[in-house]
Amino acid sequence: DSADFDEEIASVCPFCGVGCQISLKVKDGRVKYVDGLNGPANEGRLCVKGRFGFDYIHHPHRLTVPLIRRDDAPAKGLNVDPGNWGDVFREATWEEALSRAAGGLGGLRDNQGGAAVAGFGSAKCTNEEAYLFQKLIRQGFGHNNVDHCTRLCHASSVSALMENVGSGAVTATFNEIENADVAIVIGANPIENHPVAATYFKQFTKRGGKLIVMDPRGQALKRFASHMLQFKPGTDVAMLNAICNVIVEEGLFDRQYIDGYTEGWEAEQVHLRGFDPDRMAAVCGVEADVLRDVARTFAGAKAAMIFWGMGVSQHTYGTDNARCLISLALMTGQIGRPGTGLHPLRGQNNVQGASDSGMIPMFLPDYQSVTSAEIRASFEDVWGGVPIDPNKGLTVTEILDAVHDGQIKGMYILGENPAMSDPDLDHARAALAKLECLVVQDIFLTETANYADVILPASAFAEKSGTVTNTNRQVQMGRPAVPPPGQAREDWSIITDLAQRLGLDWAYTHPREVYAEMARTMSSLDNITWDRLEREAVTYPSLSPTDPGQPIMFADGFPRETGRAKFTPANVIAPDEVPDADYPMILTTGRQLEHWHTGSMTRRATVLDAVEPEANCSLHPSTLRRMGLAAGDRVSLTTRRGTVELMARADRAVSPDMVFLPFAYVEAAANLLTNPAIDPYGKIPEFKFAAVRVEPA
Ligand code: SF4
Repeated sequence: DSADFDEEIASVCPFCGVGCQISLKVKDGRVKYVDGLNGPANEGRLCVKGRFGFDYIHHPHRLTVPLIRRDDAPAKGLNVDPGNWGDVFREATWEEALSRAAGGLGGLRDNQGGAAVAGFGSAKCTNEEAYLFQKLIRQGFGHNNVDHCTRLCHASSVSALMENVGSGAVTATFNEIENADVAIVIGANPIENHPVAATYFKQFTKRGGKLIVMDPRGQALKRFASHMLQFKPGTDVAMLNAICNVIVEEGLFDRQYIDGYTEGWEAEQVHLRGFDPDRMAAVCGVEADVLRDVARTFAGAKAAMIFWGMGVSQHTYGTDNARCLISLALMTGQIGRPGTGLHPLRGQNNVQGASDSGMIPMFLPDYQSVTSAEIRASFEDVWGGVPIDPNKGLTVTEILDAVHDGQIKGMYILGENPAMSDPDLDHARAALAKLECLVVQDIFLTETANYADVILPASAFAEKSGTVTNTNRQVQMGRPAVPPPGQAREDWSIITDLAQRLGLDWAYTHPREVYAEMARTMSSLDNITWDRLEREAVTYPSLSPTDPGQPIMFADGFPRETGRAKFTPANVIAPDEVPDADYPMILTTGRQLEHWHTGSMTRRATVLDAVEPEANCSLHPSTLRRMGLAAGDRVSLTTRRGTVELMARADRAVSPDMVFLPFAYVEAAANLLTNPAIDPYGKIPEFKFAAVRVEPA
């Protein structure tokens, strides 16, 4: 009823990568409720987070003034109550806080070299904020030590896609499943993590599409699946190579496609001979006949898609897992046509855009390599001639190691929460405590802000203008519905102010000017102007000012030097840490429907917090019985890195040797337990597998 609100503002949901368009209903300067709009990714639909997860923006814990650590504050640690910080921080003016931030970080640069300072951005940033943030680190400090949470989600997927198809983005939108007759969903739980995308997957099965779900953990999508492969954790490569082996042995591959568009097939075929399904069945725990049936179903499809999530990517062999999926699509010619393609389901609402915008240590915007003199020169032209460092920078996990080693002494962290999100939290938190200057820009006093010297109060999604890019490569406009609280400011303007105080001649007055500069350096934004985005969402690439964008890529070859996609054989590698007598079970981590990442937003959203108020883990009923426990009892989980205590749920979706732990709860932080070992290519930590001991608490 329009009497319920004064104003309605069209924007984009701030949570997952689906990028649902929303209408924010505003009354008396507050968002009262949210409805779904007819966006290209949601057609009016919303999940529980999008519909009810908005009122954190009005929470009393919002940061409303700049803060500076008191001279007599206790030693840095998790010792700050976000509602009562007076013993640790004091209020400051913007002038004092920005001068302190620029003085601290700039002083390190001037006295010890720019490489003493690193930047962590966030996939919650708009495209313009991400662009400015990476530019500030590159131009203001003279190096490429800038990264964000893509490192913790799909970095291995991107490394495999860049290597083998020449582009890190999805090759087809998820809506293309409407044109498919077979789809694989592996290592993803879309009903919990991409709920609106899952509605399209369910509709696909109702039209007769065959859905093949592969996951070590059971899930609700199983009810819609033609095949459910609940394989042993850590055996993705064995299972996928066995399926590819059947395609080779039974001659089910697409010779014409392979000859026309790929390279490396002969070596791949030879490699796959070693993955006989009868032998691999024992490794992955899926019967050989099922592996054969899946191979025949996928290869026999007229059009087939592959979707994957962090169950594939968050392993020390995450890049190998993705290589197998790419090979499967290539050998069957299931790419570049309607209803075909590779789609790593992006986690955060703007992880695609933040990556596109260059917040990555090895790439300038649009994945242009920092090691290319020609590319650097083109950016130096636009950026006023300041030389760009020709060396790749450090990644998230490497930056924290470099803090421990004494190479990095200052950090600027924007909207990211490594004191909760990094693996082996004791190590990460000790690094934050060691910094000589930590500047945190955020909307809440997060666990990371506990360690800050200066805290800059920023804007929530509903308080600012800016574009975001969803998992489908759809660029959409976010709009302000309410002003930031107190003295909080839009992030682009804080970054610009800080850059000026660091000596850069930036003069942006609105994000549209930042976008215009981005468009000069990023061909992916050709034909996509700010004014156009004010009117409509556009999928990149867009071939003309009226083209709504291309849902499918690579119909005519691949953006690699040879113009061909590549097969890269993948070998079975064991997880870094396998169960033993002391730690006999497998720990895996992930999200749950109601909560978002480290919980700083959704645990302050009234409805979501009421539905899921307590830290929990999931164990198989037989595991609970064996320990003499019932659902609701408390357990302790211990790995080589730490212990947490929390409530146990009974859940038949996990196997008896596994425990599933959501990572949203600070009181039982999953990453106190996780293994920091990384994939050598994507540098992503192994969040999905660690050896753990479970005991009654
Ligand atoms: Fe928001 Fe994702 Fe839910 Fe859509 S599916 S409403 S983008 S959390």
